Amino acid sequence: MPLRLSLALTALLLSACATTPDGRSQVLLVSDSQLNQMGQTAFEQMKANDRTSTVPARSSYAQCIVNALVAELPDPWRGLPWEAQAFAIAEPNAFALPGGKVGINTGLLRIADTQDKLAAVIGHEIGHVVYRHAGERISQQQLAQTGIAVAGAYAGRNSSPEQVNQLMAAMGAGAQVGVLLPFSRRHETEADVYGQRLMAEAGFDPRAAVDLWQGMQAATGSQGRPPLFLSTHPDPAGRIRALSEAAPRLMPTYQAARAAGKRPNCR
Ligand SMILES: [Zn+2]
Repeated sequence: MPLRLSLALTALLLSACATTPDGRSQVLLVSDSQLNQMGQTAFEQMKANDRTSTVPARSSYAQCIVNALVAELPDPWRGLPWEAQAFAIAEPNAFALPGGKVGINTGLLRIADTQDKLAAVIGHEIGHVVYRHAGERISQQQLAQTGIAVAGAYAGRNSSPEQVNQLMAAMGAGAQVGVLLPFSRRHETEADVYGQRLMAEAGFDPRAAVDLWQGMQAATGSQGRPPLFLSTHPDPAGRIRALSEAAPRLMPTYQAARAAGKRPNCR
């Protein structure tokens, strides 16, 4: 039997019957507990990396926003051990890993300069986690045979730095380790829609998502190029249009959250 076919059959036998919050069915070759373990391991490695230093005050600011957003998540997501960490890196970037691990670079705070704009970024990244996008990408790589080494790397076999970086990229932290792997349009749209609704439910102004992406598009780094974040999060013009159209529809949700006492005050 050709390897590709046997892999496909194995995939069918092993795949979890998962669906996204809006009902799209997914082929997943990794379980939630495996994914969570991978995310937590990767996060510990990042924190231990001596090229990055962690920033406690900025971490507690990000943690405050994460806590407000996570309170609105359904189970099992709400019950994860959510943890936010700020890294002293000038490149504007953020990610959320399976297992509830959120990273922001301090350079992002120049663009996400209000709690609502930062909530827009973090809400989007949490959307990738809730939709199991990392699991889908790892599964796609395994089916395409290019990611078998990635799974091996996670299992501790034959784990070259390149393979660990590939795994990080598949989980959405690729810009952090220099391996750019853009999310697909569908994944981006799902994370945008979910994140903007989540921020409104938590009492963050959903219009700030538009401001954030406009600022991201306008930002130019010290090397005269746009933020790397835009390479892994493509089509800023299209998403600004969609987020602008959705914002008015989310205002009642936002106002109801505020009226119910959900008034995050993160600083
Ligand atoms: Zn994204």
